[in-house]
Formats: sequence, structure tokens, C-alpha cells
Amino acid sequence: MIRRRQTRSFLLCASLLPLLLSSSAARADETAPARDPKQAVNEAYTAKIQKYTTAPVFTSPLVDYLPASKNVPTPEIVLGDVSGAPGILPYAEDVYKYMRLLAKATPRVRVFSIGTTEEGREMIAVAVSSEENLKHLDENRARLAKLADPRTIKLDDAEADRIVAQSTPIYYITGTIHSPETGAPTALMELAYRLAVDESPYIREIRDGVITLITPVVEVDGRDRMVDLYRWHLAHPKDFYPPLIYWGKYVAHDNNRDAMGVTLKLTENVLNTYVGWKAQVLHDLHESVPYLYDNTAGDEPFNAWVDPILTDEWEMIGWRNVADMTKFGMPGVFTHGVFDTWSPGYLMFIAAMHNGISRLYETFGNGGADTEERTLDPQDYSRTWWRQNPPFPKTLWSQRDNNNYEETGLLTSLHYFNENKRLFLKNFYLKSKRSITKPTEEGPAAYVLPADDPRLELQTELLQVLQKQKVEISRATASFTVAVPAKKRKKSRKKEDAKDTNEKEKEAEPTSREFPAGSIVIRMDQPYSRIADALLDHQYWSPDDPQKTPYDDTGWTFGELFNVKVFRITDPKALDAAMERISEVKPTGGVQGDGTIFAINNSAEPALATLRYKLRDADMQAAEEPFEAGGKKFNRGSLIIRGVARSDFDRAANETGLHAAALSAAPSVKTHPVRAARVAFVHTWLSTQTEGWWRLALDNLKIPYDYISTQVVAKTDDLNAKYDVILFPPVGYNTSTTAIINGMPRDWGNPLPWKNTPETPNLVGKNDSTDDMRPGLGWDGVAHLQSFVGKGGVLLTATDTSRFALSIGLADSVSLGTSQKMNIVGSVLGTRLVDAASPIAYGYDEKFSAYCDNGPIFTLSSIAGGRGSRRLGGHSTSRPTGRGTADDPDFTVGRPGIEVPEEPTSELWEYPQVSDEQRRNGLRVIPAAGRARVILRYADNKDLLVSGLLEGGDEIAQHPAVLDVPAGQGHVILFSINPVYRGETRGTYSLVLNTILNFDNLNAGRTILEK
Ligand SMILES: [Zn+2]
Repeated sequence: MIRRRQTRSFLLCASLLPLLLSSSAARADETAPARDPKQAVNEAYTAKIQKYTTAPVFTSPLVDYLPASKNVPTPEIVLGDVSGAPGILPYAEDVYKYMRLLAKATPRVRVFSIGTTEEGREMIAVAVSSEENLKHLDENRARLAKLADPRTIKLDDAEADRIVAQSTPIYYITGTIHSPETGAPTALMELAYRLAVDESPYIREIRDGVITLITPVVEVDGRDRMVDLYRWHLAHPKDFYPPLIYWGKYVAHDNNRDAMGVTLKLTENVLNTYVGWKAQVLHDLHESVPYLYDNTAGDEPFNAWVDPILTDEWEMIGWRNVADMTKFGMPGVFTHGVFDTWSPGYLMFIAAMHNGISRLYETFGNGGADTEERTLDPQDYSRTWWRQNPPFPKTLWSQRDNNNYEETGLLTSLHYFNENKRLFLKNFYLKSKRSITKPTEEGPAAYVLPADDPRLELQTELLQVLQKQKVEISRATASFTVAVPAKKRKKSRKKEDAKDTNEKEKEAEPTSREFPAGSIVIRMDQPYSRIADALLDHQYWSPDDPQKTPYDDTGWTFGELFNVKVFRITDPKALDAAMERISEVKPTGGVQGDGTIFAINNSAEPALATLRYKLRDADMQAAEEPFEAGGKKFNRGSLIIRGVARSDFDRAANETGLHAAALSAAPSVKTHPVRAARVAFVHTWLSTQTEGWWRLALDNLKIPYDYISTQVVAKTDDLNAKYDVILFPPVGYNTSTTAIINGMPRDWGNPLPWKNTPETPNLVGKNDSTDDMRPGLGWDGVAHLQSFVGKGGVLLTATDTSRFALSIGLADSVSLGTSQKMNIVGSVLGTRLVDAASPIAYGYDEKFSAYCDNGPIFTLSSIAGGRGSRRLGGHSTSRPTGRGTADDPDFTVGRPGIEVPEEPTSELWEYPQVSDEQRRNGLRVIPAAGRARVILRYADNKDLLVSGLLEGGDEIAQHPAVLDVPAGQGHVILFSINPVYRGETRGTYSLVLNTILNFDNLNAGRTILEK
């Protein structure tokens, strides 16, 4: 029914609409979105566009034809068909080939190489504009650079206006960062052609007024794998096709969550291009909901660090985009929606955090180029206040439809942007200027990272992230002092109490702080102050926020997650301190003193592990107690190294950024050897998303490992023969134990191969392969893991794999608590060290922060197979009804009073004391040596939240966060926090690395109290 109505309107659309629209061309300020009747149409191409468009409302007068050109090739030249044709998905290489053919054919297109991916594939940016604009790119860039850094024109608004009037803005479009979202490359090929060739006034205005910059494929490694997979699907049309388990080398969907840490090449390359070109907009193309969700103006809460000028721009551009496409009669175009713009981790946020405009489309894709009937969810086709013309409940949808929406949205956006480019360029200048005047207008003045931080190597890593973000970094050349504002306390209800505390606090709280020479100053009077502020500040997401489903992490404070000291300074005097700009942040490591024995203080810096594997033949010992040597104090866990030539050691210390002392004699302290463990890294064939961040971390630290799947574990009888440590990082998405063991269903369907074949030359890349992705760990694999641990191996698990370890019975003395109201969505939480003598804790202070995303609630039990403390008849802590006051003991008439024995109590991070009754024939009582060693716990509820959202925190507060469970001869290490995540949690990496380095001495320093 719907389709018939559409067929009629198609005729209307094709014949009348251009006329209706051209009548509005008479108005001087609005150019009609219509083709130039004087320019010939490429009839064959146009006919195919119409053929592949499944309903006339799914196109627009901007894209329902293709202008002809004698010398410029259409996408057909590499695709063999038109953009969006069914069955055709080009590899990145083909897309580049086309873009380069365009550049050869017309002076209106230029192609730039912008870097390579982790697997060495090229990334490009294609500039499309008038010949005149492209001829003067450098002069234009010099002008834009002045707007981007208003210090260069002394913040002179009049001068800015003059520059704005002469400048051509840059609108940067990025495609297919998410590999199963396949439409953007063909849409962008055709868009480039249209922008270069079309002579209609509407397109000409864009071409003359804007430089459109296009990266058609952002995730190039993933694109090639996806095209392989699609080809496999075409060759086996009746089979189920394998899910795209790997996108990039390391991560999948999370590649769009890297704009804070900048750990992936694609983020770095896009960031460099965006900032290098001084672009005004970054518009990232995605596919999910029907038909075009412009989430430029998202739901609340908005990111708290962006300039409100930007949030107004979001609304202007977003709603105007909806309005333009609504006028074309295209259904399902909307903005606002459900996406909140809190986290700055999205690729588009590179623009938001660098004084530009971030934009994102979700169009509708079929995950390939098949034309399919799609049935929508009611939530996708319901009419809401922000979606007045919703999609249809059932839709025959093609890749061409998707391309029509993408191109129409982009062309209307470009046109509107061009019409208002003076406004947007001026805003670009104003946002940059307001970033520079931040210290006096809004604060803070600066962030300071003190020179006496014990973790200088981690400090360097944090500074390197800021440097990738183009933040200016300075070093104080002399010590300086700043005022510290008094903290405001909540008013006490009682007046007298308030007086008391105020006086006490006045005494205790310092009013100034001195920083030593060499301290790092991140000044807030610089153009990119906002990204530094957003990364270094704390986040607070109110549990009362109307937004109940945060789209991503709610907290990320980098100083906390890197375990590095960062001070937010509001006193503008900080900016007057003597300082110098650092052009390049380099590791500051080195060796002091003379002697053949080297000692390195352990401050839980990941580079210690790098050093162990770098100096393979060296004798390394870990001190089991703190010691003093060469006039210096060394923490427990500090390394004492022998058997390395001074020159080799100097080089290693320099490269790793570690600070070492050369000693003439070894200190007298109990030590154990630190050996280079043989590490297996286990992944499933269900998801490689979350473990990918662990792989990336280990690769960056140059720690070798065998990357094996659960299927290999199932086949390997003697894991101990090959490995000392098995890392089983989180699978992600709270994957169940059943799924890990069973894998994917095999009672039906076909094998799902993940391997290179002539049809799928790029699939495997540099990761792993299998003939069939479906089998999981299986019960053989479970038995192999149990036997590995039993024979002395160390198995390290985190979050969902810790749940898995508990459910297969690897830790009898730990059970999983259930939560009723706990809600921790990617937050930074406080933790407390419980057992500082454990090698896993080496180098850590008593308090530090960790990343938690609704982590498992570990509950300790002294009784195997049950919750030891539960008893029949309820648990009463108050006295029974009777004589006397509430504090009096109970009283029985007619007999002397009996003193009630004191109830043993224990903290949540301690094992409950075993009662005498439980010890009667206590076959289930776990001996103290068999109980877990609690390394780290969550802080008390009042100190638990550091950054982000915390609701129902009392359910996890004080519970263990890291446990070392003895099992047979070996150990199972359980993490409730995720210690390795998105390159952002480097402060907790060493909890994992310490486990690896001390694998055969994890019991060092353990005290066993039988109680
Ligand atoms: Zn996406």
C-alpha cells in the first residue's frame, strides 16, 4: 500500500518538484537545489540511480541525476556500476584509485596522503573546490591559521573580520570508520564527482565557497576485511556469513572512542589532518538507525567543556539539515534523538575540542550492498517531537537509498554552511579566542604536573597524549607559588558544629602551594585549552540526571587514570611563573651514579615490564621490602639488575624513560627473581573488541605473547609446557560463561571460516584464523585451564572473564554478589591497597583510582560452596524487647544474667571469621592458605566516586577489586576493575604487568592468619 502511494508520488517528484523549487530561485538569498538545465545529464548513470532507488521519496533533486562530463570519469570507471549499486563494495584501494583519477582529470580535485594504518594501509584526504581555491591552499591556510590562533593577530576582532572576509572555510567529511557501515565510500566518490563537475548554481556556490575535504575510508584495515566478507557472502549466498570479528588491528566499534587517548593511527591521522588544515567542521558518517539521524544536536547532557557557541551551532546546523530534507519530502530525517554528547571520545569530537564543529550522521545501512526488505522497531518508526516525519515500519532498502540520503544531507549541509560561512568562520575565531581568554574569563588558569611526581615516565606518557592533541606544554624554569582557594563545605545544620569545623579546617588547609622548578604547566591561555581542560578535569554525572542511559563512559579524568599528579590551578599568577615551551615531550630516563649494579625504584610504571623483556639476559631481582641505597629510598618491588653493560643499560633506561641508580654494592634486602614470563593471550571468536585494547597496550610496551583463541586452549593438553601466564582479558558486553564455553550455535547453519582465501585475501590481517568461528572454549578447554592453574600456572581474568573463572569453580572462596541498584557507567572509582606486600601491588600507593564499568561484586566466603555467613532464623543485631534501655543487655527473670559472647565482625575485604559451629566437622571450611589474597579493594562509599556516574555505590564499596586466588599450585587473578582500557588507564596497567613479572613468586610477602 505504501509503495503504491510512493510510486504515484515518484511521478510527481520527477516532473513537478524541480519546477516548484526553481520558482524559489527568484529570491536572491536562496539558491534552488536543482540541476542546471543547460548542463547535459549522464543518462545511463541517471537511469541506474533511479533503478536502484527503491522508492521515489528516498531521493532528492540534488542526487536523482548525474551531470555529464566529457573528461571527468564517473565512479563507474572503477565500480563497474554506479555508486550504491547492489552487490558492489569497493576496497579502499579502488576508492583511492577513483579519487586519483578524478584529481588527474580535473584541477578541482586534489588527493593528499595523510598517513598509514597499523597494518600499513594508506589513508587519504581528498580536497574538492574551485580551481582557484585549490591553487591558493597555502595562502588560505595561513589565513585560517590566524583565526585558529588569534594570538597571532593580538585578539583583534577587526582584523579577524578582514581575514574572515578573505577566507575559504574547510568542511571535513570522514567515511566508514565503522567497517560494517559500508555506504560512505561510494557516496563520497559520487559526491566528489558532483562537487567537481556539476554546474548548477547550488553546487557551484559550494565549490566556489568551501573547500570540501574528504577521507572516504577512515578504518582502512577494517574496510578491506569487510569487503572480503561481503565477497564471501556473495560467493555463498545461501550460507550465513561470519561476523566481522576484527575491524582494525586492535579494536572494532571502539575506534570511535579513541579521540581522548589518541592511541590508534586512524585517530592520529584524522586529528592531524583536521588541525593541520585548520578545518571548521568534522562530519563523520555512520550507519545504524533509519533513515538519517543527524545527531549533531544530540540529547543531554552536553559535554561540559565545549563552548556554548558550538552547542548553538549544533542546533542551527542540525535543524536546518532536517528542514532542508523535509522539504524534499524525504521521510525519517531527524536530529536530537537519543545520543548524548557527554563523552569527548568520538572521532567527531576532535572538532568540538579544537574550536570547530563536530557533526555525525547515522544513515540506514544493510551492512553490505544487498537490497533488502527491512522491518523496523516501533521505536524507530514512531513519531516523536524531534521526528515529525518518521521512517516507514517496513522498508525495501538499498545501498543506493543510503547513498542518496548521505549525499543529499551533505550537499544541503555544505550549501547552508557556505551561505553562512562568514558567521561560522567568525565563530571559529571567537571560539579560538575564548579558548585563549579562558584563564581570566572562566578559569582555570592552568593545570600543573609537579616535577617531583614519583611517576615521571607515566607523566611523560600523559604529556605525549596532550601533545598529540596539539596542546602547548610548558616547563617551569624556577619554582613558583600559587594561591589555593579554600574549599567550600556543605553547611552543617548545627551552628556550633559549623563554627568548630570551620576553625579546624582553616588551620589544616593550606592557602598556597609551591611547585618545584621543572614542573609542567598546561596553560589555559592557548587555542586548544579546551581539550586539555576536558581530559584533566573531573567529571560528575548526577544520578538524578534525566538521562538514564549514558551513551558511553561518564568519567575519564586522565591524571587519575594515569596515576599521575595533576593540579587544577585557578590562580592566574600561575601564568606569570618563569617557564619555557617544550617543543617535543621525550622520556626523561637515565642512570645516575657509578657501579655495575643498577636499581630502579618501583613506582608502578609500565616501562619496568618493557625493560625486563628488553634486557632478556640480565639478572633482575625484585626487592620484597623497601630499602635505601646510594642515598636514595626504594619502594618494595624495586628492581635490582646485574649482568648488563653500562652502555646497554644507559640506552635501555633512556628509551624506556626509567630513572635508575648505579650502585657499587647490592643492597641487603630479601629479593626474588623477576623472569620474563612466557605469556599466552587468549581471545574468543565472539568478540575481540575489549581485549584489543590489552593487545595494543602490550604491543606498545613491547611485551611478547602468543595470541591464541579459546579453540587453541581446547586443543592444548599441556598449557604449562608452553606458558607461565595466561591472560584472558574481558570479552566485552558482559559475555556469559555459557557463551565462552559453547561459542556460537552449531546445531544448525554452516561453518564460519575466518581465514585468507582467494575470495577473502585481507580477512586475517595480522591477527588469528580459524576454519570455523563457532566452537568456543568447550569443556576440554575448561579442563585445560583448570589443569594449567593446578600445575602452577597463573591465569589472569578481568570483569566478564573473572565471572567466568568463578563460575567454573576456580575460586571457591569468592562468590559474586548481586546488585539491585548499582549503576556505574564507565566511571573512575577510588581504590585502596589492602596487601601492599603482594608483588601485584608493587609500586602502588595506598590510594589510587581505577576504571570500573559495573564491575563484578566479589564477595569473600570462608566456606566452600556457599555463603558462609548466612544462617537460619535471620540475623538480628538489635536487642530483643524487654526491660531497660536500648543499651542494656537482655534480662531473664529467675536466673543470673549470662554474658553474650561478642559477635566476630569482619570488613567486606576480609574473610568472615569461621565460627566454632562451622568448624564442627568443617569439611567445607577453607584453610586460610587456600583463601584469596585481597590485593586491592574499592574505597568506602563516601570516597568511591572520583569521576563520572555512581549510583548504588554501597553495593560495591569496600568489596575486593583485585584478588589473587590460590588454586592448586597456581593462581587465578581476578579483576573487578578493567585495568587496561582504551589507552586511558595506564596507571593500572602495572597491576597486570606485576602479575606477569612476578608470576612464580606471587606469594611473596604473604602472611597467613588462621582464624
Ligand atoms: Zn557507527
